[in-house]
Amino acid sequence: NSDSLTRHSYVVFVFFSPFFFFFSPTTVNLLDSKASQGELGWISYPSHGWEEISGVDEHYTPIRTFQVCNVMEYSQNNWLRTNWIPRQSAQKIYVELKFTLRDCNSIPLVLGTCKETFNLLYLETDDDQGSHFREHQFSKIDTIAADESFTQTDLGDRILKLNTEVREVGPLTKKGFYLAFQDVGACVALVSVRVYFKKCPYTVRNLATFPDTVPMDSHSLVEVKGLCVNHSKEEEPPRMYCSTEGEWLVPIGKCLCNPGYEERSNTCQMCRAGFYKSALGNLECSKCPPHSFSHHEGSLHCGCEKNFFRAEGDPASMACTRPPSAPRNVISSINETSVILDWSWPEDTGGRRDVTFTVLCKRCRGVTANGSNSGTQRCEPCRSNVRFLPRAAGLHNTTVTVGDLLAHTNYTFEIEALNGVSALAPKMRQYAAVTITTNQAAPSPVTVIRKEKTSRNSVSLSWQEPERPNGIILDYEIKYYEKEEQETSYTILRARGCNVTLNGLKSNTAYLLQIRARTAAGYGASSPTFQFETSPDSFSISSESSQVVLIAISAAVAIILLTVLLYVLIGRFCCRSKSKHPDEKRLHFGNGHLRLPGIRTYVDPHTYEDPSQAVHEFAKELDASCIAIDKVVGAGEFGEVCSGRLKLPSKKEICVAIKTLKGGYTDKQRRDFLAEASIMGQFDHPNIIRLEGVVTRSKPVMIVTEYMENGSLDSFLRKHDAQFTGIQLVGMLRGIASGMKYLSDMGYVHRDLAARNILVNSNLVCKVSDFGLSRVLEDDPEAAYTTRGGKIPIRWTAPEAIAYRKFTSASDAWSYGIVLWEVMSYGERPYWEMSNQDVIKAVDEGYRLPPPMDCPATLYQLMLDCWQKERNNRPKFEQIVSILDKLIRNPGSLKITANTTSRPANLLLDRSSSEVPSMGTMGDWMDGMRTLPCKEAFSGVSYSSCDTLAKTSTEDLKKVGVTIVGPQKKIVSSLKALDSHTKNGPVPV
Ligand code: AMP
Repeated sequence: NSDSLTRHSYVVFVFFSPFFFFFSPTTVNLLDSKASQGELGWISYPSHGWEEISGVDEHYTPIRTFQVCNVMEYSQNNWLRTNWIPRQSAQKIYVELKFTLRDCNSIPLVLGTCKETFNLLYLETDDDQGSHFREHQFSKIDTIAADESFTQTDLGDRILKLNTEVREVGPLTKKGFYLAFQDVGACVALVSVRVYFKKCPYTVRNLATFPDTVPMDSHSLVEVKGLCVNHSKEEEPPRMYCSTEGEWLVPIGKCLCNPGYEERSNTCQMCRAGFYKSALGNLECSKCPPHSFSHHEGSLHCGCEKNFFRAEGDPASMACTRPPSAPRNVISSINETSVILDWSWPEDTGGRRDVTFTVLCKRCRGVTANGSNSGTQRCEPCRSNVRFLPRAAGLHNTTVTVGDLLAHTNYTFEIEALNGVSALAPKMRQYAAVTITTNQAAPSPVTVIRKEKTSRNSVSLSWQEPERPNGIILDYEIKYYEKEEQETSYTILRARGCNVTLNGLKSNTAYLLQIRARTAAGYGASSPTFQFETSPDSFSISSESSQVVLIAISAAVAIILLTVLLYVLIGRFCCRSKSKHPDEKRLHFGNGHLRLPGIRTYVDPHTYEDPSQAVHEFAKELDASCIAIDKVVGAGEFGEVCSGRLKLPSKKEICVAIKTLKGGYTDKQRRDFLAEASIMGQFDHPNIIRLEGVVTRSKPVMIVTEYMENGSLDSFLRKHDAQFTGIQLVGMLRGIASGMKYLSDMGYVHRDLAARNILVNSNLVCKVSDFGLSRVLEDDPEAAYTTRGGKIPIRWTAPEAIAYRKFTSASDAWSYGIVLWEVMSYGERPYWEMSNQDVIKAVDEGYRLPPPMDCPATLYQLMLDCWQKERNNRPKFEQIVSILDKLIRNPGSLKITANTTSRPANLLLDRSSSEVPSMGTMGDWMDGMRTLPCKEAFSGVSYSSCDTLAKTSTEDLKKVGVTIVGPQKKIVSSLKALDSHTKNGPVPV
């Protein structure tokens, strides 16, 4: 019943999913009868067999169906052949049939010919054969039977049921094929025929794309290589297998999104603004960490906000950080020359944990003698031997101990907190500073003691100055005792220098000895105990031979006495012209420091007939091979002055200065050159430049002295203007005075004592130098010819020496006063640019240099004392040394400065401005007065200009602290005098 067949045909439809589930196969239709709206044009043979009929599906979409139902007739063989179907790439195809089939029982009056199956066949060809059709060419695929023919309805009706059967065909090899349906007497309606093949669909797996892939017909899998999606990279080559069923199997390998990209729905997409991804991988982009930003998409990392940084090695995920703030609450506790610094952690660590601390040590000068800061602090890095415990940099704890500082010195410590980004932001770095002044400290112990010479009853020792003198060493205490006596009785000696000879010792005896140094701060610790033995008696007398020996000794003594008598008589007879023989003078010289005053005197080398004899008398001849010259350090009158090294056999190498005599010299020049060595060689004092020896037997002729690292005092002071404490300056002055005392005790008059002739070593020890014979006459550029013909350094020389060449230790004391002034004014030129003639005149009229700026009153008083016109009223060097020692012991006395107290009226104007050559006009004077002393002396009184000073009353002076009647009057009268002299010319104030 064809009606009933068509009636049900609307239920037939094919569902194609547009979505591909992963792994699920996709199908490609080669034929779908339902898709055809018009006639399918299949061949039906015989023509009354299969019939093409139009119908509609459930959506009333027209469809084409074929049916046959010749159940009433015998020998049915009805064929229906499809059109030629191109195979495409398929190797295996699927044929899906939807059909209804009536069971024979449901058909009344069927005569036993009714069938309930039909056959499905195919034929492969390479081309379309048109209507040409031969049954035997077809191969059978299967006999198709209905699973169910009817379905029972609720009402008991039986309705036809649609069957679906699918058959696989393959492998196919030709370009196309036909399908055929053979009916042998059934009642069947072919509702739809679909032919398809399966394929593994295009897919993206692990960020790799896999193309559509047609599976193989056999059971083997197709291996397919994937391609990484855009903005990704292979981590391991991606691969998958396409199964015969069109399913993707076994994904291997994968791709990873590039930095700046993240995986989003199987693609790599740029990170959004505010996010970043720094590494390859399939992680999501991360939000920018604190204090960082990314304004653009696809950022690999986030930039730091202003004033925030990322250190090398900081991960991109870490917040940007900044240098820490300064450490807080710095506390210093000073113990002599060491200080413990403590501080608190900075308020802001900058967001990091790697905070360490660094302590920078600076030595600062520019603090006035009274301790207040003068405002112009000058700092320099501390010396390298300052010790930091545990260390100066990279401190993890908030404390450090700083040791081995200099005594009485201002230090500033800058404590900085550092973290990993401090180096990136030098401008943001902050530190906390603390300024301290070290206390006085005793010297460190003497550590090196040497035995120089031993005899039966005496021993000569020398030692090295303590490593840290912590001030000026006043003297050394030497304590010794017999080893046997265990310190029950001992002897104490004092020595100024670093050597001593102990006399009156027992022969062949062991002694123990200790040395300690003394400064203004007291005694330092004692040296380690040093043992020495005196020599044994050179011979001992046995009882039997004693008589013989005694007789021999008596005879020898008698012969010696006779010889001496003869020698004296002959000497008197022969040498009437000379008062003293040099050998006789030599007897005056001891070699120890325990010198009896008056015994040693200076011998003028001129008294020797042959001056080279004097040189060898007083100076050691050195072998030139022991001397190595390093560089030129200055120019002397006779040639260059070099620095170098002297290495004597079995002695330590020392630094030396080497004065050379330039080639082409005359005999006189050679004599004069070596005369300095002859003089220097007679001196042995820590404040007199020490002669090491001379080279006269080879060329060039040389004088070798100890090396003074800081060169001459005047230039040294100018270089370090305002950098020393009062105590340090007084220490230097004391050294010079001590050297001068030694010279005057020796009866030597220097004649050219000036800062330029003082040398300074690395320990700030000052030593008197420049002992020329023609001296003042030739080699001092400051020396000028006087009216009487001699050449004299006018500014440094006492009036009586200028006037009638009366050079004495008292004239040296005058010069010492000028040196004192030079030191306290840090190398200022005495009397500035005044001419020599003006200086002679002003000094003669009683005017004196004014106190240098910030000069302690006591020192200024000492200067004035040295500049007493009457030379016997000037202090002796011994007194000067003792005054300075008192000052060192009582540094508080340095705080009263001469500027702020009353000053004598006979002062030369303190003209610190060198642009004013002389006190010519009122205008010039005004320029001078505007300089510091004017302002300082009268600070506290409000004057609109200095010219009103002339109208100053005694009352006004009281206001500024000038209360003594004398000085007030003098100042007022000086000012008044100035007023009246402005029209008349120069006025000393
Ligand atoms: P003089 O001929 O002694 O005036 O020396 C000339 C210059 O050489 C001095 O101004 C110093 O700069 C230098 N000089 C002389 N002696 C020494 C020394 N012992 N140590 C270092 N420098 C020296």
